[in-house]
Amino acid sequence: MDRVRAKKHLGQHFLKDLNIAERITTSMGAEAPKMVLEIGPGMGVLTQFLLKNKELDLHLVEIDRASVAYLKKKYPELENKIVEGDFLRMDLAKQFSEPFAVIGNFPYNISSQILFKLIENKDLIPELVGMFQKEVAERVAAGPGSKTYGVISVLLQAYYNIDYLFTVHENVFDPPPKVKSGVIRVYRNDRDKLPCDEKLFKRIVKVGFNQRRKTLSNSLKSILLDSKPQNEVFRKRPEQLSVQEFIELTNLIEKLIAEKS
Ligand code: SAH
Repeated sequence: MDRVRAKKHLGQHFLKDLNIAERITTSMGAEAPKMVLEIGPGMGVLTQFLLKNKELDLHLVEIDRASVAYLKKKYPELENKIVEGDFLRMDLAKQFSEPFAVIGNFPYNISSQILFKLIENKDLIPELVGMFQKEVAERVAAGPGSKTYGVISVLLQAYYNIDYLFTVHENVFDPPPKVKSGVIRVYRNDRDKLPCDEKLFKRIVKVGFNQRRKTLSNSLKSILLDSKPQNEVFRKRPEQLSVQEFIELTNLIEKLIAEKS
């Protein structure tokens, strides 16, 4: 069968190493749902291993027509399980009536958008396993005090635990990407809902990290308006705060704002 010609604008880098492919597909937790959505299967290097696990109800979404045609030919049993389209435009709640896991060697050009879509659908997607560019994988897994700890780390870790599993060298791909890759496992923690105003939490995290070198009393001025917070947490920088401390900060700020009005 003719191989699919890799297209750069679709972030296509096909994994050649079968051991790594198998390792990714067996990294899902025991508790993960049996319904699984693979994003960007390409020529199916992960798919072939997922299909070996008969317990799984496997669905695929692939934007590239040539890859979809290749997969349907190679795995006729997938005929009705492949959505040809853009994962970012999928209405997941409509497509899936029960929780499912996400897996993939993801297209790196849309890494952040995949992660933000995960957060938006956190109650539908209890687990995600897969490969991102190493820098993104590290950022997602980073804890407070680390240079790479930022908005996506806090917003994901509010609802998910993250395990950084392993690093993958660029030469196991065709064509090789410019950067190394990292495989992570992301699975829900036990916070169903944050014990604070979730919208305000998100805003504080985003605005706070906009100027990550500044203290929170400076970077959050637009939210605090003219209230002069005394609490010592405001003398810290955003990268020093854990998720729990951001939650407490949100409650503190909500109180400050209420006192003003
Ligand atoms: N999983 C394969 C391919 C990885 S490359 C492997 O490991 O070899 C990333 C894949 O994602 C490509 O097949 C690309 O066509 C697909 N893709 C890119 N953007 C996408 C999108 N928005 N929705 C679904 N698939 C996408």
